[in-house]
Amino acid sequence: MPSLLQRYSLQCRKIKSLENKHQLDERSVRLIAVSKTRSSEEIACLYRAGQQDFGENYLQDALPKQRALTHLAIYWHFIGPIQSNKTRDVARYFQWVHSVERLKIAQRLAQQRPSFLPKLNICLQVNVDEESRKSGFLIDELEEVIEPILSLKGLKLRGLMAIPRATSKIDEQRKSFRRLAAAKSQINAKFGLQLDTLSMGMSSDLSSAIAEGATMVRVGTAIFGQRQKSVQK
Ligand SMILES: *Cc1c(COP(=O)(O)O)cnc(C)c1O
Repeated sequence: MPSLLQRYSLQCRKIKSLENKHQLDERSVRLIAVSKTRSSEEIACLYRAGQQDFGENYLQDALPKQRALTHLAIYWHFIGPIQSNKTRDVARYFQWVHSVERLKIAQRLAQQRPSFLPKLNICLQVNVDEESRKSGFLIDELEEVIEPILSLKGLKLRGLMAIPRATSKIDEQRKSFRRLAAAKSQINAKFGLQLDTLSMGMSSDLSSAIAEGATMVRVGTAIFGQRQKSVQK
């Protein structure tokens, strides 16, 4: 069995070779190590190997780890569903939120972002395959929320995030990611913005996501191994 560091280094090399293949600048794809259910020791181990971005999607699971690791210069990314009663802690303890899927949540995050901190970076989560069971904005709904979100002082809108329908078919994976990329371009054109972030691609569809322009990939299993326990939300 490969060790944590071996799996991590394999993912870093994989990203590097995909950057090469698609003629992207080195480090144009930012790896978010998704450490949900993983220990603060594992996070610290990767940090020592050079990893600074970590993604969490259960607040209760994340907060104790953040407290244990305050001495490390980690960028914390919140990537999970956000209930209204959790926005205060998310606004305070994270640098990025990838999973903003309702205007109301954005408003609460903005209001609750402490003024002594830099603006909170956010992505709007998009239900890119229009799945009925999934939340997130439909592509058609995005345009009407852009201006209300831009008016929120505590937030910096950076781009879009999606978790497409799971499929092993490469062309289907790419089609979904391409839709997200097109939605971002369209928003930039229409609103004169320079949104720079496409948060897309996980362990099983990383290559397709990078081929379609991902700037952030969120990788859990391929780095940490299969998750055993599930956490209470
Ligand atoms: C768990 C999770 C990931 C990582 O998924 P893997 O398949 O383990 O790489 C990425 N994004 C989100 C939103 C997640 O919840």
